[in-house]
Amino acid sequence: MKNITSIQPNTTQRKDLAALRQAYQGWSNTPDPFTKLTRRLSTSLSLETQLGILAEEIGHIIAFDALSYRHQIARRDFVYATGTGGPHRCEYRLNLEGVNYGTLTLNRRQKFSDGELEGIEMFISAAICQLRNACQFITIEQAALTDALTSIPNKRALDEQLERASRLCDRHGEDYSLILCDLDRFKTVNDQQGHVVGDHLLQLTAEAIENAIRNSDSVYRFGGEEFAILLPHTGQQEAKNVADRIRDAVARLRIDCGNTKLSITISCGVARHLPEESANNWIARADEALYRAKAQGRNCTRVSASIG
Ligand code: GH3
Ligand code: MG
Ligand code: MG
Repeated sequence: MKNITSIQPNTTQRKDLAALRQAYQGWSNTPDPFTKLTRRLSTSLSLETQLGILAEEIGHIIAFDALSYRHQIARRDFVYATGTGGPHRCEYRLNLEGVNYGTLTLNRRQKFSDGELEGIEMFISAAICQLRNACQFITIEQAALTDALTSIPNKRALDEQLERASRLCDRHGEDYSLILCDLDRFKTVNDQQGHVVGDHLLQLTAEAIENAIRNSDSVYRFGGEEFAILLPHTGQQEAKNVADRIRDAVARLRIDCGNTKLSITISCGVARHLPEESANNWIARADEALYRAKAQGRNCTRVSASIG
C-alpha cells in the first residue's frame, strides 16, 4: 500500500507502533499453543481442515493414536478420522451456548493421564468457537444448495453436479444419464385446488422420485414443477426404465381433496452423456426429449434422438 501523505508520528505514536510490531512478531511466531491453534484455525472455514489442524496441535503436546469426529450437519453425517486404533479413549461432546457441535474422540494404546485429559479439554475449549463457525458454514452452504419446499437439492446443486459428471464421463468414459421430468398440466391443479395442494403435491412427487431411484442416483428440483435425476453408471435403456418407474410412482400418488382424490402424471426426457459433451448441451438434449414427451401425449418417456 502506498503512503501518499507522509505524516511523521510523534514520540508516543512511535512507541505504540514499536510495541505493535513487537506484539505482531510475538503473535505470528508464538510458542503459546492456544494462540497458535486459534490463529491456524482462523485461516480456514473447512471443518475437515480445522479438525486436521486441531489433531496436529494436540499431537504436538499430547500423544494419541487416533482422533475422530462425528456430527450430523444439515441432515447428513459428517465423519472425520485420522490415525487408527487404541483401546483407551476419551470422548467429548462439543457444546457451546447449549448447542451441540458433534463428538470428538481420541484413542490411544496407553491410558490417558488426568493431566493429559485436562490438556485435551483446554485444546477443545480454545477450538470450539472456530469449530462452531465451520459447522455453521456447512449448514449455510447446504441451505444454498437445497430447495426449501421439497428439501431436495436445487438447480444450483444440479449445475455443479452436471459439470462434475461431464468431466468424470470424459475422464473415465463411463455411462452417465440424465432424466428431466415435468408434471403434466400442473397449472390446472393450482388453479382448481389452490397453491397449498399444489405445494403438497410437489413434496409428494419429490419423495416418490427419491423412492423410485437407487442410492447412487440423485434427484434435484430443476424448476417450478420440474425435476432432474442424475444416474451414474447408467446407459440409455436403463435410464429409460428408471424414468418409467418414476412415472408409475407419480401416477400412483393420491391426494385427498374432500369428495375427490387428486392424481397427477409426469413426462420424462432421457439423455445419456455423449463424449466431450458440455453440461449445457447434455441438459438441452434431455429437455428436447421431454418436449417431445409432452408433444406426444404426456405421461410418457422419450429418449434423446442423437443417441444411436
Ligand atoms: P405441461 O403439462 O405442459 O407441463 O403443463 P403445466 O400446467 O404443468 O405447465 P405450465 O408451465 O403451464 O405451468 C406450470 C405451473 O407450475 C405454473 C405454476 O403456477 C406452477 N408452479 C411452479 N412452481 C410452483 C410452486 O412452487 N408451487 C406451486 N403450488 N405451483 C408451482
Ligand atoms: Mg408441467
Ligand atoms: Mg414446466
